[in-house]
Amino acid sequence: MSEICITLTEEQQALRKAVYDLCQLYPGSYWRELDERREYPEAFVQELTKAGYLAALIPEAYGGSGLGILEASLILEEINHSGGNAAACHAQMYIMGTVLRHGSEAQKARYLPQIANGTLRLQAFGVTEPNSGSDTTQLQTTAVRHGDVYVVNGQKIFISRVLQSDLLLLLARTTPVQAVRRRTEGLSVFLIDIRGLKGFTVRPLRTMLNHSTNVLFFDNVEIPADSLIGEEGKGFAYILDGMNAERILVAAESVGDGRWFIEKAVQYSKDRVIFGKAIGANQGVQFPIAKAHMSVEAADLMRLKAAAMFDAGEPCGAEANIAKYLCAEAAWEAANACLDCHGGYGFAAEYDVERKFRETRLYKTAPVNNNLVLAYVGQHVLGMPRSY
Ligand SMILES: Cc1cc2nc3c(=O)[nH]c(=O)nc-3n(C[C@H](O)[C@H](O)[C@H](O)COP(=O)(O)OP(=O)(O)OC[C@H]3O[C@@H](n4cnc5c(N)ncnc54)[C@H](O)[C@@H]3O)c2cc1C
Repeated sequence: MSEICITLTEEQQALRKAVYDLCQLYPGSYWRELDERREYPEAFVQELTKAGYLAALIPEAYGGSGLGILEASLILEEINHSGGNAAACHAQMYIMGTVLRHGSEAQKARYLPQIANGTLRLQAFGVTEPNSGSDTTQLQTTAVRHGDVYVVNGQKIFISRVLQSDLLLLLARTTPVQAVRRRTEGLSVFLIDIRGLKGFTVRPLRTMLNHSTNVLFFDNVEIPADSLIGEEGKGFAYILDGMNAERILVAAESVGDGRWFIEKAVQYSKDRVIFGKAIGANQGVQFPIAKAHMSVEAADLMRLKAAAMFDAGEPCGAEANIAKYLCAEAAWEAANACLDCHGGYGFAAEYDVERKFRETRLYKTAPVNNNLVLAYVGQHVLGMPRSY
């Protein structure tokens, strides 16, 4: 059994502080203005890249810092804790595992150093489709091999940061579902350079938060055969492999959100005087904030456990899923306590509470819905009958 890291090392604390300090250069007003215009935080992402933080998981041999998932999760946590939104750049970290574990040496040598130094950006991950949703194995986008190329046809929805990325990690069906033994077979992963790709159309999709999300259309798009990652037909397993990392990183972002909401609520509850005393003295205001704080602290322990197990190379599907669920729910509890404590001001954009409220809500739904986490725990951890 791995050692569960509950106390951070001095290096990890220093990393956390350095990220938090960098984020102070991008205050609430920065994120608020971008949110209003639904624009990408380009300057912030550039600065984070330049400082090397987005290359945390890339091995040193390829120009990254070769850190673990715990350190990567601390980086994302602090972005959200500072009032920003790590969703603008988290995908690079959770996509990375698929390339690192299953990419060829040639692919790694070609892409990783450039991703590490910021010349290339890999922030887009194309899985979800209009007709399959959470049922990934039923996706309909096809990639058919013709000599030196694969020809891709289909549609994806809710694919984020495509217009801000040079590379896209794509999941498509290479063998029809009728021709495979199990529906999880016959899917393949491709790492595609999407710059100037013929037949590829991106249509931005406005959502309730600033998330640079799009609908993608592939119309006889030719991609080089060497964009295939690993073996043809094994893509679903590769994507599943990366899911634990994704769950842990998103859990950490939720912890960061939770801490931001609690700090904001505590401060406001001390400052706001109504009926002659600080509103925080009222148990109706104080207790929901105290409860949310306890939920965030407890959920964070599961995040630390999942990260420790992941970094020790142990199976951690249950822990990563539980962490994602508990942290997203705890952040949502903190969001509601913070909004309630602010009264009407919680709804005023200039307080940032309503923006963070929308941003943190996403994590109950994406990248995986909390219902499906419950189904995973019920069916795979506890062995109850399957719903799908
Ligand atoms: C802002 C945003 C950004 C996103 N970015 C990306 C991205 O970059 N790349 C990408 O590939 N995807 C992305 N997604 C998609 C996201 O991962 C999906 O929305 C999510 O996986 C759910 O799929 P769906 O919306 O089709 O819901 P559906 O699968 O249609 O589900 C609808 C509801 O039914 C529930 N449900 C379905 N089946 C069951 C069951 N068996 N048991 C219990 N409940 C069930 C679900 O939990 C959910 O509540 C993004 C989504 C959003 C909103």
